Amino acid sequence: MKLRKHYATIAVLVMLLSPFQLVRAQRANQSQYLFNDSHFHLTNYIQEGTDIKDMLKIMGDKIGRSTLFGIPVQQQWSYRVTGDFAPQYYLDSDAPLYYYSFTDAYIAMAYKSLTKAEQARFDPMITGFNPTDMYAAAHIRRVLETFPGVFTGIGEFSIHKEFVSAKISGDVASLTDPALDSIFSFCEETGLLIILHNDVDDPFPKPNTPNYTDDMLKLFKRHPDASITWAHIGLGRIVKPPLEYGKFFERILADPELKHVNFDISWDEVAKYLMQDDQAITNTARIINMYPDRFLFGTDNVAPTSQEKHLAVYHMYDPLWKLLTPEASYRVRLGNYERLFDAAAKKVRAWEAANVGAPKKAPSHSPASGVRKSE
Ligand SMILES: [Zn+2]
Repeated sequence: MKLRKHYATIAVLVMLLSPFQLVRAQRANQSQYLFNDSHFHLTNYIQEGTDIKDMLKIMGDKIGRSTLFGIPVQQQWSYRVTGDFAPQYYLDSDAPLYYYSFTDAYIAMAYKSLTKAEQARFDPMITGFNPTDMYAAAHIRRVLETFPGVFTGIGEFSIHKEFVSAKISGDVASLTDPALDSIFSFCEETGLLIILHNDVDDPFPKPNTPNYTDDMLKLFKRHPDASITWAHIGLGRIVKPPLEYGKFFERILADPELKHVNFDISWDEVAKYLMQDDQAITNTARIINMYPDRFLFGTDNVAPTSQEKHLAVYHMYDPLWKLLTPEASYRVRLGNYERLFDAAAKKVRAWEAANVGAPKKAPSHSPASGVRKSE
């Protein structure tokens, strides 16, 4: 009875709150967490990882929500190459990587093993497609049809990634591949959020040689209705920020044709550049304070084993959190994630309601003029 009275008081209070105060109250509730994780791999390069129930314990009262994806490629264990040594990482062997579609079923089943309340803390993503294949969009559609109500987006998937792209079996991925445009178009249709890894340049760039940025920005501009996150702001293990990278970024941020593009500052390898000295820290904070809606924090951890390890990247950014305005800090750690992933999930659920189980249209991937008759 007492409890009921308590709820009644809250209900009256909520009615008295202005919409602004309500948002503040909801935020206060959310901000008990340090962050939402916009970039997280449950499994590793040999498709093994943390049990999802253990992951919930690792998130504990520190991480509110998290993206949930595996790794789209599998490291082959070639006995001819490494003998009894079983490689676990792409740098452990010269044997190739290959696209591993089963990751999507694995992630979906892990998610479906949770209660509704537990599921609400995850945003699963589709990654198991080959971005050089004109059938990639058909795979993504098939995943939505097989596991409706599960996925929020696609990625992290890679086009240009140091050491990785060159060792994937089959065609090398390219930003100018029509297959990639068809993937982006399908995401525009469905609302699936896109997390793309594309290095800003080669590991050892020569001055004045073309890098991968122009083609990437053109790709983004061709798909204005897609919600895109450019992972790691284009940096990598040894892909370091090019000269004047801050200025380059400010031009992207100010470009009205790139308003649908956001940036994650995930990965300890990225934090190492952004936090390397006072000047880098100040510059990073200045740009994020100018565009607080456009950046997301993520760990980019792979199959973590403890909360302490899982939070290490977050704490590498402690100098940054101190320099951000409270508003910018809130958005980068928590708010932008909620806004972007909630919007995407809502659109995908609406697309599924209208399309999954509905009679099949002619597949959009067979151009009428290009269909060959089987003989
Ligand atoms: Zn990643």
